Amino acid sequence: MNNEQFFEQAQIYIPGGVHSPVRSFKGLDFCPRFIKKSDGAYITDEEGKDFIDFCMSFGPLILGHKHPKVQSAIVDAVNRGWTYGACEKYSLDLAKFIIDRISFIDKIRFVSSGTEAVMTALRLARGYTKKNKIIKFNGCYHGHVDSMLIKSGSGLAGTSTASSLGVTENCSKDTLVVDLGDLDALEKCFQDHDDIAAIIVEPLPANYGLLVQTEDFLRKLKDITKKHNALLIFDEVISGFRVAFGGMAEITGITPDIVTYGKVIGGGMPVGAIAASKEIMDHLAPLGGVYQAGTLSANPVAMCAGLANLEILAQKDFYPNLEKQTQKIVSTFKEWLDKNTQHSIISHSSLFWIVSSDQAISNVDKIPQNLGEKFNKLSNLLLPKGIYLSPNAYEVGFVSQAHTDEVIEELKKRLWS
Ligand SMILES: *Cc1c(COP(=O)(O)O)cnc(C)c1O
Repeated sequence: MNNEQFFEQAQIYIPGGVHSPVRSFKGLDFCPRFIKKSDGAYITDEEGKDFIDFCMSFGPLILGHKHPKVQSAIVDAVNRGWTYGACEKYSLDLAKFIIDRISFIDKIRFVSSGTEAVMTALRLARGYTKKNKIIKFNGCYHGHVDSMLIKSGSGLAGTSTASSLGVTENCSKDTLVVDLGDLDALEKCFQDHDDIAAIIVEPLPANYGLLVQTEDFLRKLKDITKKHNALLIFDEVISGFRVAFGGMAEITGITPDIVTYGKVIGGGMPVGAIAASKEIMDHLAPLGGVYQAGTLSANPVAMCAGLANLEILAQKDFYPNLEKQTQKIVSTFKEWLDKNTQHSIISHSSLFWIVSSDQAISNVDKIPQNLGEKFNKLSNLLLPKGIYLSPNAYEVGFVSQAHTDEVIEELKKRLWS
């Protein structure tokens, strides 16, 4: 069957033919590619066509597809068994490895997704502070937990409304939504509400384009939460282990009270994590009154994949090398984009965003209209050339260690073919 036939079938059995909406190629002329296998920087669809992959499973695969060390860690783990629902040493190894290298966390708990990590972090912040409300920012994504599917209400500042059906009004009342960079609105939230438990932010917002923030803004978040006895939650599900081993917290030197991880932490297996000081983490059950649990949490296969992955990231020069490759890729794209489309390319660390604007974009207001239409045109050019971007105008591109000079040569060849 070809991609079209697979997708037709999939739509019969699966809502929209997908298990996560960003995979659906909605608004694009092409239907989703059905991926059969992958290797390094390449994915191959059911029709046998290969693509240079810049989606990389939306971020986890920082070493590329099927890295041999991660693969053998997975195979070895499976050979021992794949879930026990009991204590094992693999999650301990991973916990120690991470905590030894990230100074502001004393304890960590593993879950199975970024969403779950955020959900737990919010509950923990509320349980710890005994307060209810959470401030989030327009343009930051924190997974599909009810209280984060909230956008600002029309009209009055500080009001909020659900961005998904099925989220109750009561739930949306406890989330206050503010624009990135708007310190006045933040201050006003704290003046109007005395029960704010936490501010949650993507310190490098990368789910609605790439909205790079100033260090000064992030530092002010720390100051304002401290002043009002609220907690600062860095959602580093994308940026953790991606921009540096210790994520944006390491790069900026700003320490959040709670941090969430996902994506890269599991090396491509389903892992999320919540980490903080001992004082805060000990509020989780069974020690404390904040309940959290998971049948498959800290799955031993995923823990072994995660550790094998992180061991490589902890090696000297891993991140500088990855950024060097990213710069080469960015300039390769830039040269081609300048001649062929109206897009430009923004990058940070090993992330990039191809966007139809040449201005700095740091909040949602600055994102140009009709982005989707222009992205469709771009994807009509790139996909037939065998170049696979995350299939949505608002998703960023990810570079991996497998994007070698050889792959970049191939990228040039494909772009200009
Ligand atoms: C991807 C992401 C999530 C959600 O993680 P899932 O594993 O998809 O549930 C949450 N927060 C951020 C910042 C993310 O990038």
